Amino acid sequence: MIDQVTIERILDAAEITEVVSDFVNLKRRGVNYLGLCPFHNEKTPSFTVSPSKGIFKCFGCGKGGNAVNFIMEHESLTYPEALKYLARKFHIDVVEKEESDEEKQQKDDRESMMIVSGFAQKYFSRFLWEEPEGRQVGLSYFRERGFRDDIVRKFELGYCPDGKSTFTEAAQREGYRMEFLEKTGLTIRREDWIRDRFGGRVIFPIHNIAGRVTGFGGRILKDKPDTAKYLNSPESEIYHKSRIVYGIFHAKREIARADKCYLVEGYTDVLSLHQAGIENVVASSGTALTHDQIRLIRRFSSNITILYDGDEAGIKASLRGIDLVLEEGMNVKVLLLPPGEDPDSFARRHSSSELLKFISENETDFIRFKTSLLLRDAGSDPMARARLITEVIRSVAVIPDQVARSVYIRECSRLLDVEENLLYSEVRKILRTRSGVAGTPLSAGTPSRVQKPAKPPEPPAGELNTEESEFLRFLLRYCTTPLFEQESDTPGKAEIITVGAFLIGGIRDEEMISDKPVFKTIVEEISQKMEEPAFRPEKYFINHPDGAVSQTASTLLAEKWVESKRWSKAGAYTEKEHEALDWLVPRILYEFKFMKIKEMLIKWEGEIAEAQKLNDDELLFELLAKIQNLKKAEKLLSDKLGNRAIT
Ligand SMILES: [Zn+2]
Repeated sequence: MIDQVTIERILDAAEITEVVSDFVNLKRRGVNYLGLCPFHNEKTPSFTVSPSKGIFKCFGCGKGGNAVNFIMEHESLTYPEALKYLARKFHIDVVEKEESDEEKQQKDDRESMMIVSGFAQKYFSRFLWEEPEGRQVGLSYFRERGFRDDIVRKFELGYCPDGKSTFTEAAQREGYRMEFLEKTGLTIRREDWIRDRFGGRVIFPIHNIAGRVTGFGGRILKDKPDTAKYLNSPESEIYHKSRIVYGIFHAKREIARADKCYLVEGYTDVLSLHQAGIENVVASSGTALTHDQIRLIRRFSSNITILYDGDEAGIKASLRGIDLVLEEGMNVKVLLLPPGEDPDSFARRHSSSELLKFISENETDFIRFKTSLLLRDAGSDPMARARLITEVIRSVAVIPDQVARSVYIRECSRLLDVEENLLYSEVRKILRTRSGVAGTPLSAGTPSRVQKPAKPPEPPAGELNTEESEFLRFLLRYCTTPLFEQESDTPGKAEIITVGAFLIGGIRDEEMISDKPVFKTIVEEISQKMEEPAFRPEKYFINHPDGAVSQTASTLLAEKWVESKRWSKAGAYTEKEHEALDWLVPRILYEFKFMKIKEMLIKWEGEIAEAQKLNDDELLFELLAKIQNLKKAEKLLSDKLGNRAIT
């Protein structure tokens, strides 16, 4: 039991951004902070923290509350446990009465397992530093490997004595129960024997993101045939191998600061890089990289550089990892070390500045990496080259962001000497078969419309830019939503202007419809059907017979509110999109027109140059007049958008 005065002291001390930023990389946005929500999977931040109100709120999944609620939710703790966590963090002494055996038992399993693991870590570390066997076998091993004592202490490395059950007996003497020793895997028990899992091994404790020990890796030192060199804790309620990366607790701040994370394979790679002064590094520790692991890293940065051995296995592992990282919308680079080196050996033989220099000079964009690798294997065999293109394109197709995809396609086209068009249509093919939705209109509910056979791949008619996508998204999503009232011809009776009418009217008057086919189709069909009472734009366009249209509509409508960077810069993201339409919709329109005007200016300025060459004064004056008008319109829009610099 914690008394009320202490509780209040804890609540006063627990500054919300300080609490949250142990787990989430927060960036300042106006008076608030913004980051990726730790409670649901998202790629665009909708998790906000308000220091003045002392609360967090996710506009994606709806979770919200104060610092205590955050810790309870994030660490799966009870209310008193979360208070104690915060008390530890903010150095507030909690006076509690001694726990009875009964109370001890009542603690839930997870917490008991954490406590047992914490005890084991301290036991193993103490043994390493203080007992003759620990020093002679364990500590001397780490020292021979070249690890400094401060690194051994920082990562709380240890040694488990080489007796049958020396550790288990010690734990039991201290009152820790067999149930939890077994559940954490520290002790293996069979009918007639008990044994320490990690006996005779040096120990690498595995910390969760909050810094608590939830599992262990142990390395055998003797040459024992048929014994695995590394042994890990088994899966348990507190240790899920696929959801943790080794070193995240020690790396998270530096990952956020450097906005970059190095990913290596093993425990000692992490240690060596730390020792060399590079602290934004984590290891997947032997498992193939998983989505959960990547998401954990993404909370702190979306830039990953994969640092693997230059041998065949390392290369294969890199290739597997790359697609996973790309799928999570992260930027990925690859660094293969010289043959025969691993990050551990390489870091030990080079100073930190040499290491950083080597990395920055040799880390390769994944496309170039994968392409050059496959090119090397394919040689001049045309079949092999065709397979190669498919392979590379497969990686490009998993990238969720359209803009990033286009950049990679361009790069690919150059490297492989294949036309961009062809690559685009390959990507589309893969996307279509993968989603199984896009390009395949759902026939249910629209029996009158028979699905056309798959069209041949279309030309890479320009993908939509941000302004066009945003325009269409608002148009599709809020077409029939009333935006504001305006006086009508009938006096005293106001006319309701819908979002659709406002947006379409805004571009129709000035002939600003984009000439991209998808954009044109959607805008034209909406303006024809808008007045029909039963018209449901979302359903209509998602089920559209034109594959490109239905694909665009699905993408735009499936996305959660991707607030454009502009909104968040303006500090307005805390409002929900649909509650801010009166402010957002005009802005969407202005942004679109602003972009359009820029396009036209560029086009006409080109025509002016032509007219000058041809000495066609009439055309020249006409164009100059047009441009003058456009510049005026541009200035007007720029004022509305907050004095954007006109370039
Ligand atoms: Zn959320």
